[in-house]
Amino acid sequence: MTVTRIFLSIILLAALLPLGGEAQSQPFSPMTRAERRVARMQQATRNISDSEEYLVGRAVAARILTTHPLVQDPKLQLYVNEVGQTVARKSSRPQAYRGYHFAVLESPEPNAFACPGGIILITRGLLKMCANEDQLAAALAHEVAHVAHRDGINSIVKSRWAQVVAERRIARAKERGGRAAEMANLYEGAINDVFKAIVTNGYSRTAEWAADQEALRTLKRAGYNPAALAALLTSMLALQKRQAGLHHTHPPTALRLRKLEMQVQDQKPDKQQKVREQRFKEQKI
Ligand SMILES: [Zn+2]
Repeated sequence: MTVTRIFLSIILLAALLPLGGEAQSQPFSPMTRAERRVARMQQATRNISDSEEYLVGRAVAARILTTHPLVQDPKLQLYVNEVGQTVARKSSRPQAYRGYHFAVLESPEPNAFACPGGIILITRGLLKMCANEDQLAAALAHEVAHVAHRDGINSIVKSRWAQVVAERRIARAKERGGRAAEMANLYEGAINDVFKAIVTNGYSRTAEWAADQEALRTLKRAGYNPAALAALLTSMLALQKRQAGLHHTHPPTALRLRKLEMQVQDQKPDKQQKVREQRFKEQKI
């Protein structure tokens, strides 16, 4: 079985699993300002259910996979999934509707895509840019934050969703609303909106900044060095400078980095640092 098939089987299998394990109660802790903002955003999009979000996200992931094939290395896929699950569990949205899924794409361009509902795709190019496991965790924590904040699903044009709701009602009235092919047609415009936001246009600076903030907290909770996010952005900025020439840097990355550097100081290596470094070195990236 190829890695592509394994990944798709995981997604499809997950779709068939019962909803056990959801809504586990989290230990009480006061919400931070950013977490309250997330809760407000989740409230605002409550007319898009978790299952609809998952359906749209899965279609967006499938579309990205048509141009970015999966890396055929099960060991690497498993490793990235383990790091991803570790950070996802410590995020502000630890339970995704069908769980989180992480996969590595065969593309030299450093990039990552957070599909609504919890499918997170990262390119080999971005993996190569990570100097260690903490930086990989930082990249994944940032993407998990986009899922938690519903940045992808929120990019669906409001009037479009109203149209989906209306058409779905008509389809259900005709007793054919549940059929997958017709449902896919129904959601096509919404899928296009999300794809455009994730792949073509990117999110707003505010969304990026909020994802960075959450990533810092997630990394800390998961036992990773939060300074790894700034270190990864430093490498990214260096690449952007090389590509665009010295006078044309990419302001959002520079700005994000400046903000992060003001907030976080590098921490001393902990006991697990060596274990993480070894695990990372064992991968064929
Ligand atoms: Zn981002």
